[in-house]
Amino acid sequence: MKKRKKIIKKEKNNTTGHRIFLTVVLTIAVVVLPVSAIEFFYVILTNSAKKNPRVSSKIIQPCLDKDCFASKSGELLTSKFLSLPSFFPHPSETPFSPLFVPSPTSTPVSSSQASYGYCLNVPVLFYHHVQPYSLAKTKGQTALSVDSDTFDNQMEYLASNGYSTITAEKLITALLTKTSLPPKSVLVTLDDGYKDAYEYAYPIFKKNNIVANLMIPTGLIGGADYLSWSQLEEMSKDPLIYITNHTWSHYSLSGGNAAKVHTEIETAQAQLEQHVGKRSMVFTYPYGSFNDLSINVLKEDGYLGAFSTLPGTLQCDSYIMALHRTRVGNSPLSYYGL
Ligand SMILES: [Zn+2]
Repeated sequence: MKKRKKIIKKEKNNTTGHRIFLTVVLTIAVVVLPVSAIEFFYVILTNSAKKNPRVSSKIIQPCLDKDCFASKSGELLTSKFLSLPSFFPHPSETPFSPLFVPSPTSTPVSSSQASYGYCLNVPVLFYHHVQPYSLAKTKGQTALSVDSDTFDNQMEYLASNGYSTITAEKLITALLTKTSLPPKSVLVTLDDGYKDAYEYAYPIFKKNNIVANLMIPTGLIGGADYLSWSQLEEMSKDPLIYITNHTWSHYSLSGGNAAKVHTEIETAQAQLEQHVGKRSMVFTYPYGSFNDLSINVLKEDGYLGAFSTLPGTLQCDSYIMALHRTRVGNSPLSYYGL
């Protein structure tokens, strides 16, 4: 009888154990598995989204500043120019490389660095718009502008601190002939031929006796917000002003075939000769964009030197077709190493 009671008790215990086991299994089946399944499918879906370029291309880093925006706009504008230009090219903004602070420079000293050939340490400052900040703000051009009063201070700083402002041709000739330049030589370059070059920058150049280089996309001259040919002609007669070819339509040269690149360069060259009456053998790449093809075409057309937007102040004959420049903003020039 005792034994039987023990067996019944054992069976009861077993039944309770089975119930608990079944409850646990059912709970897992009903609750945990669906959650895992959802998770499983979620992982598969998100992984495939990462691999799928159509999905991932929507993940675009937002622009946090206007330079970034200008850069992205530039990319879009560049792709527009891949087709042949219309009779009158579309004005465009120029994207920038990020602000660069060069190391301090003093006298341009010839360097005998074997790997770079003959070098001179010459800052080449580059600007776009020069106009009052309030006007730049109204026109949405603050990212591309240096305030005209600030610019006046910067030019006054060059004049009163013993800098020699020189033409692009003088730098290129010195590199080609391996000769030195005046102490503290520096280039001031103004890109794209905006009308504020005549209204604001030119009077400041004259006031401070600054030699300046204008990089001109000839097809844009005469357009809204750009210089007129008569303004450019007037400035070109001033020994303070030197003009270089910056293509016809502000074309991104690395995007074109040889015929297109030739057309852009030679059309601008012909228009400059026609209006300015001078032949410059100096070129400046729109968007800082160049490749081997564009360098070869420039050489075929007789160009001796060209400016990029690569940062740096050391100019060497080994890369005379891609000389370096320093983008200047609204800080004092001492900020840029001068
Ligand atoms: Zn430009």
